[in-house]
Formats: sequence, structure tokens, C-alpha cells
Amino acid sequence: MKRVVALRRLKASHLQRLREHFEVTYFEEPERQPEAVAVALRQAHGLIGGKLQVTSAMLDEAPGLEAIATISVGYDNLPVDELSRRGILLTNTPDVLTETTADTGFMLIMASSRRLVELANMVREGRWTQHVGEPQFGHDVHGKTLGMVGLGRIGRAIARRALGFNMRVLYSNASSKPELEAEWGLEHRTFEQLLAESDFVCLTVPLTEQTEHLIGYEQCRAMKRSAFLINIARGRVVDEAGLIRALNDGLIAGAGLDVFEREPLQDSPLLRMDNVVTLPHIGSATHETREAMANCAVENICQALQGERPRDLVNPQARPSGFSEQQQEQSVDAK
Ligand code: NAP
Repeated sequence: MKRVVALRRLKASHLQRLREHFEVTYFEEPERQPEAVAVALRQAHGLIGGKLQVTSAMLDEAPGLEAIATISVGYDNLPVDELSRRGILLTNTPDVLTETTADTGFMLIMASSRRLVELANMVREGRWTQHVGEPQFGHDVHGKTLGMVGLGRIGRAIARRALGFNMRVLYSNASSKPELEAEWGLEHRTFEQLLAESDFVCLTVPLTEQTEHLIGYEQCRAMKRSAFLINIARGRVVDEAGLIRALNDGLIAGAGLDVFEREPLQDSPLLRMDNVVTLPHIGSATHETREAMANCAVENICQALQGERPRDLVNPQARPSGFSEQQQEQSVDAK
């Protein structure tokens, strides 16, 4: 029987499904037991879990590893090229989290422009002592211009919500999307044009070498002073020190952030800014969606370890032993 190491975010029902096929070792808090995890990995064929951190040294110690299933759509934390070289299949959980993450993105647009957290705290803390006046007013969302940086699954889902709010939607993306321009009336812009024209700049690109620190002080300077930055992608897409400086200098109106360069965010100037909404990386964190993500990852690891092409294969270029030429070609076609 093949062996699977499971880390975090799996419920008894998921472990039960895995145990129907594999010998499973589960660690709810792997950071507390790194040695036990390392020992389990030495014998493992599969690894499944959320927030996986995998290094070359770990892979050297896990010679039998055939597949990794991350319970996330982003895989910037995993060494994809190295996994492919070693013939280890990597799968992720796209689609099932798209709508929930888009809800979170739109929530940040609304919360930052209407000053939701700041004003809700005023009420909770007993500081609502007279009628709200101009100093507490927010800004409209409807009728404004949203600039989507990244127009993939989540970017499109946020754009769809924005159209329902009667917003104009601009986008900059690695490839242009003429069908969405024709069908939805989205407008393509260069990154620089998008920064200059948008009332909300919303980031939904993956973290890669090209997108790391895509937005910093200078990019904030290129935005409208009345604009808000929304980051639902990954913390390192934003140069946080540059953003803090830009906010301090009043270059933009505020920010709505779900992700940070270092998480959990602790003792940051961002936490003391009324015009910044900070969330604890909850893009996909609903009961329904986390359940769907875990189900998806379980299905992927079962397929990968049973010799089938996993549905959400990230690295079709990986050639595991026992994976036929034909399966390899199907994987490439599917991408
Ligand atoms: P996706 O469908 O792959 O979309 C990514 C989009 O970014 C694609 O349209 C891609 O262009 C574009 N892109 C890639 N590199 C670019 C670049 N250098 N410049 C401009 N555009 C670029 O992914 P998704 O499912 O929407 O997820 C996007 C990211 O959101 C994930 O990678 C993850 O990091 C993040 N995320 C965060 C949370 C959270 O909890 N906050 C939850 C889920 C996901 P093409 O269309 O040309 O390929």
C-alpha cells in the first residue's frame, strides 16, 4: 500500500477517504513536529496539505515521493521546476475557490471605500456620540473604475461582480482577452495606463519572478490620489515598505489587503492606519470552499498515486515513472 503524509486542513472524512487507498500519517500542526514529519516523508509516496513548504533537502530525504497535492490554487511556495525534474507531480485546487475569493476581493473594495472597519469600530467602542458628518463620509463604489491586474479565474469573477455594481472595468494581463472585451465590455490597458485611470487597482496575479513587487512606491505615485489598492493575490506582489511610505505620503487614498509579505502580520504600521483594511488571509476561508478545496486535493492525490492523470495537474512536464507517453501528451494538451 502506498503511503501518504497529510498536513493541516484535513478533516476526519478526508483522512477516511485517503485511508481507503493509502497508509496515511496525519500532522495537524507539522511545525510542532518537524522531525516526525521528516521521518514520515522518507517513506512517503504522496504529500497533501495546505501551506506546504518543500525544500531540496526535504526532497533528497523523500526519494519515493511521486505526487504533492497542495490545498490552494497558488503554488508560489513550491519549487515547481525541481519537482518536475524529479518526476514529482504537483496538483492544486483551482476553480473551487474562485467565487469565494472574488467575494473577499469585492468585500475589500466595499470595506475600504466605505470605511467599514474604521466606522464599525467607532460604534463598538462607544465613540458614536453624534450624527456622522463629512469627516466620516466614504466614497461610492458604483459608477467608479476598477482596474484588474490579472484577469484569470478570480480576476474575471471580481470583474463580473463589478459590472453588477455598474462599474467600468479595465484590465492588464499577460495575455489580452478580446472575448471579454466584446462580451462584457472590459477595456484592455497597459499596466501604467491602468494605474493612472483606476479608482480601485485590484491585484489577482500569481506571485512569480515577474510579479514580485509589481506595486511599490512609484506605482502608487502613478495612481490617483483618490484611489485604493486591493491585494487579494499574494503579499510579495506588493513592496510593503513602499506601500506604507506611499500611504504615509498620501499618494493613494487607502488599501484593502488580504495578504502580506510576512504572515501572520504583526506589529506593522499598516495596523495603525485607519484607511487600510487588513484581513488575515481569508480569501477562500469559508466552510463550503475549504471543504471543496480539501475534496479536490484528495481526489487529485488519489488519481496521481493510482496512475491516472490528476485533474488539476500543475506540471505536466514532470515525467513520473509509470506515467505513459500517451498520458504525458494528454496532460500537455489539457493545459
Ligand atoms: P489564474 O486563473 O491562473 O489567473 C492568473 C492571471 O494572472 C492569468 O490571467 C494570467 O494571465 C495573469 N498573469 C500571470 N502573470 C502575469 C504577469 N506577469 N502580468 C500580468 N498578468 C499576469 O489564477 P487564479 O485562480 O485567478 O488565482 C490568482 C492568484 O490568486 C493565485 O495564484 C493565488 O496566489 C491568489 N489567491 C489568493 C487567495 C487568497 O486567499 N487571498 C485565494 C486564492 C488565490 P494569462 O491569462 O495570460 O495566463
